[in-house]
Amino acid sequence: MPFEKRFIMQYRLDSFKKRAKGPKEQFQERRGLKIAVDIDGVLADQVSAVLQEIEKDYGRKYCKSDINRAHWSADGIEIWAEISRLLADPEYVMRVPPIEGSQKAIKQLCKQDVIVVTARRPNTEEATRRWLREHFPCLTQYYHARTGTKHNIPSDVLIDDLDMNIVEFVRSDPDRRGILFQHPWSLNGTGIEDYGDQVYYCSQWRSVMKAIDDIAGDRN
Ligand SMILES: [Mg+2]
Repeated sequence: MPFEKRFIMQYRLDSFKKRAKGPKEQFQERRGLKIAVDIDGVLADQVSAVLQEIEKDYGRKYCKSDINRAHWSADGIEIWAEISRLLADPEYVMRVPPIEGSQKAIKQLCKQDVIVVTARRPNTEEATRRWLREHFPCLTQYYHARTGTKHNIPSDVLIDDLDMNIVEFVRSDPDRRGILFQHPWSLNGTGIEDYGDQVYYCSQWRSVMKAIDDIAGDRN
């Protein structure tokens, strides 16, 4: 067979292989990335749960779109103070529902290196680990890191719902990528827009998985 013809056939075969990449190949490409996953706002629908408790305890009804910054407060109610008060109760911890789509996505990601990194206080760790075993049994690596210090965790990617964590993380290493799981409280004027080539904005797990594929593709 003439060289030109052989070359064209090989080229077509390579293009076909690239186009025909199935989920299995995509999964293999994602292997090798170390991915850190936040709990509240990423795996756990913490804000929905806390707003229900606020309604019960104070008779005031707010919705998620009202919570427009990390340190939101209204009528003398501070959301993070309420969250830390409630998380001290293991029964409350177990009542927090998982974020839509998170269980299916984590099941897919789990055969590679996925670690949980949370700013929840150590007094909630036992109940939180029980909650993880119930909803995400494959997640066994657990790190506590205060807000703004998650860049100390050894990982290539951080998925988090607060801009300050993503900014600290990507700023620490130009090869790192951050996925901001975006909620109404996610943006707090931390200059995240300065890191456009390192940050993905996703508001659901389906787009998080696409971002991870994209990151893995860039590294191959
Ligand atoms: Mg969070």
